[in-house]
Amino acid sequence: MSEPTWPRPARERDAASLIFNLPGYCVVDAVDLPLGGRRVFVRADVQDEGCPDCGVISTRIHAWASQRVKDIPAGGDLLEVVVKKPRWLCTEPACARRTFVQVTDQLPFRARCLTRLRAAVLEAVIASGRAVDEVATTFAVAWWTVQATINAAVMTLPAVDDVRVRLLGIDEHRFRTVRFFRDDHGSWTRVEPWMTTFVNLATGQVIGVVDGRDSAAVATWLAARTPTWRDRVEVVAIDPSAAFRATVSRQLPMARVSVDHFHLIQLANLMVTQVRQRVAREQLGHRGRKNDPAWAHRLLLLRAGDRLSERAMDRLSRVFAHDDPTDELGAAWGVKERLRMLLATTNLDAADHARGLLGVTVVAADMEESWKLWNTINAWWDEIETFIETRVTNAKTEAANTSIKQIKRTGRGYRNHDHYKARILLRSARQTRRRSPLNQQASTLNCG
Ligand SMILES: [Zn+2]
Repeated sequence: MSEPTWPRPARERDAASLIFNLPGYCVVDAVDLPLGGRRVFVRADVQDEGCPDCGVISTRIHAWASQRVKDIPAGGDLLEVVVKKPRWLCTEPACARRTFVQVTDQLPFRARCLTRLRAAVLEAVIASGRAVDEVATTFAVAWWTVQATINAAVMTLPAVDDVRVRLLGIDEHRFRTVRFFRDDHGSWTRVEPWMTTFVNLATGQVIGVVDGRDSAAVATWLAARTPTWRDRVEVVAIDPSAAFRATVSRQLPMARVSVDHFHLIQLANLMVTQVRQRVAREQLGHRGRKNDPAWAHRLLLLRAGDRLSERAMDRLSRVFAHDDPTDELGAAWGVKERLRMLLATTNLDAADHARGLLGVTVVAADMEESWKLWNTINAWWDEIETFIETRVTNAKTEAANTSIKQIKRTGRGYRNHDHYKARILLRSARQTRRRSPLNQQASTLNCG
């Protein structure tokens, strides 16, 4: 007795249609094209279709129409699809429309590409961060088709004013050096290498990008939001920039401002470095060299003191013993560590106490560099208190900006900022969805 090893022929789809896998269509024929690539002929599975005007279901086919579209290249070859689809007759006497053609998810009205090709193009640009022209070549479509797909996807993102933002991060980033372009009239235009991003700190999603880094750009963006949107913002995290602070308190008077603690620590590290360089100049008469312990251990000086190993602490002691005859470097290091302790506090009483200790250290150090830092701390005390109470930081804004720079690198020289922004918003939306525990429910990027 022999059993047939092949599956029974009673399949819903024939083999070619199964492999081609375009839901709602069956493969009729396929030919090789003389100049390479293939052409696949498919026919729509005929089902009753409702008239787009009156909604009445029609069962009468008026004629068969043909549509030629591009598909995802298969095996590296161009793939062209010729679709035969019904043109229906609207039988509703009251309806002005006489006929209408079938449209499906994969084949929208007047489409030149199958939806799955557009989805693949979008994925290549947004997820892999590949350059538009490179993706266009890979998928054998026009550059503009890729860009139009990106633009269409941007339209599906929720409007900023519909996104509830309780915690807002604002940060600037420089994405390249200053460049000049000659315009059509032959004069040179300076292209601003800075952008400012707005991030929903609850999710890390970039919700806005503006050119430049001046407070006017920030003000314009904030002023364009609805009053409801602005009322919802409770905390805004910014870098210690007085211009940003003034703008935020004007545009969002109800929101508290939190200064990013990381930037304050950076200022303290800068202070230590300035003191180290000054001490070297004064003591050695030249800049630090690799044989000088203070220079050799310049990064050790900036590391968090409470996290240093015993060996690292020993090295640090040797630096102070050898290279710090005036104790100024040690004093600067102490001020930096006091500030770190202050920023590590979690309630206002502890912060106030730590501020007092920092003040004592600053007075004892009595150096121009540490006085300057102390003044900054006092100028930003309200915002430091907000940070200590809320722990709202710009860490997610920084992460978004790192990701944006990546787009810049792979995107190879965007001149059109709108295109660049479109990619930033889409990529960030995608990353946010992937991070979100609800990402199963979120809709996928859709394009028509
Ligand atoms: Zn109709």
